Amino acid sequence: MWRPSVQRVLDKYRELWALGYAMALMGWDSETYMPEGAAKERGEAEATLVLIRRRKLLSMAPLVYRMRPGNDEERGMKRELLRSIRYHRRVPREVVEELAKVTNEAKVVWRRAKEKSDFSMFRPYLERIVELNRKKAEALGYENHPYDALLDLYEEGFTVKDADRMFSELKGIGKLVKGVRAESPLENEEYEKESMETLNREILRELGFQEEYQRMDVSAHPFTESIGLYDVRITTWYHGKDFRRSLLAAVHEFGHSIYERGVDEKYWMTPVQGGVSMGIHESQSRFYENIVGRSREFVEHFFPLMRKHLPFLEKYTVDDVYLYFNLVRPDYIRVEADEATYNLHILIRYEIEKGLIDESVSVEEVPQVWWDMVEKYLGLEPREEKYGCLQDIHWSLGYFGYFPTYTIGTVLAAQIAHHMDPWDRIREGRFGEIREWLKERIHRWGSVYPPKELVKRALGEEINPEYFVERVRGIVKLFS
Ligand code: MG
Repeated sequence: MWRPSVQRVLDKYRELWALGYAMALMGWDSETYMPEGAAKERGEAEATLVLIRRRKLLSMAPLVYRMRPGNDEERGMKRELLRSIRYHRRVPREVVEELAKVTNEAKVVWRRAKEKSDFSMFRPYLERIVELNRKKAEALGYENHPYDALLDLYEEGFTVKDADRMFSELKGIGKLVKGVRAESPLENEEYEKESMETLNREILRELGFQEEYQRMDVSAHPFTESIGLYDVRITTWYHGKDFRRSLLAAVHEFGHSIYERGVDEKYWMTPVQGGVSMGIHESQSRFYENIVGRSREFVEHFFPLMRKHLPFLEKYTVDDVYLYFNLVRPDYIRVEADEATYNLHILIRYEIEKGLIDESVSVEEVPQVWWDMVEKYLGLEPREEKYGCLQDIHWSLGYFGYFPTYTIGTVLAAQIAHHMDPWDRIREGRFGEIREWLKERIHRWGSVYPPKELVKRALGEEINPEYFVERVRGIVKLFS
């Protein structure tokens, strides 16, 4: 069914696909059931598999160059393979190996530095990691800004120009949320883990979670792992109180998982089988978490079920829960931030990363720059560093260029909501229609189209933060 020059590549690609399958399963296992003492050995096995995969990929290069794609799908396959080959060809092995070594140590040091709120412990590692990322950007090449090369790794085709435009529209949110401090007694209501888990499962089943092809487990931080097209796993967490955290995390990961499950079966075992970018992926998870999960219609629809499993809800109304799901309260920690303030946290990280990569900010200045922006955008006073630039794991892992994809996802989710108008369907529990809408326009295409083109085809316009800003205005109004 594919052209001969494409089929030849796909026959070879099957080995890479199988390696990816095994590595995904190993990755899922390390975050869920692996005994702690196995970490070092697992790391060795993974590092070796990464090298095998790289070698196999590069050995396919001549065949890839000779691919003669005849349609969009085959062009997508070639594009995906060329991207990976280019990455491995351009980034010198020393940089890759050095980065792996430094981040391996940095992870451990970062954890200790965070506990002690001591930036000076982490500083030399961050210096090394920034330098290596700069080298990586130079090796990869860019047109206007070195950070473009890093952004492109997570969001193909997205540049500093795009990001600057997106974030400049979001800066005004700082003024909207200033001084808002919404609270709810529901934050302190305690639940039984078993009941909470049953509630999560029953809600997800109605949204379209398929137990035949999916599982839900528990991990330190919720995540989705796509092992294959027929095996997509998610996790959530249970804190014993504040039940929206557990529920909305499960709903968020569900959104990631049906993107992977919704890819057209004819792309199985091809380079376009998976979701196309981090930003598009996050748009699907945020759509389910923010648009569906935090809506009044959702709370209304599931309220009887929530009351059945969480008896304390007898004292509360649909509106109490709806407000509780949407509380606005500028705070220090990104992962605990509400929808309205979340992107201000990303804005801060984006500005600092961009500055570190183009050398307008030095590593030494990071805490100062951080607190200046926290005051400016979130209206909060400086605190210990564990509430500041030491809070996130990303830099210790060497991830530069990743944070903006969270904002791309949130912004796109609001934009999708505008085009879909899902409210009646949510209230009436017609979740199959929502799934179909997303599948037809986004999921089924896997990585056939690069993200910007996919957005244009799906929504008829480019990414546009206005819908999100409008949405935040509405949320803030609930509390003022
Ligand atoms: Mg996510």
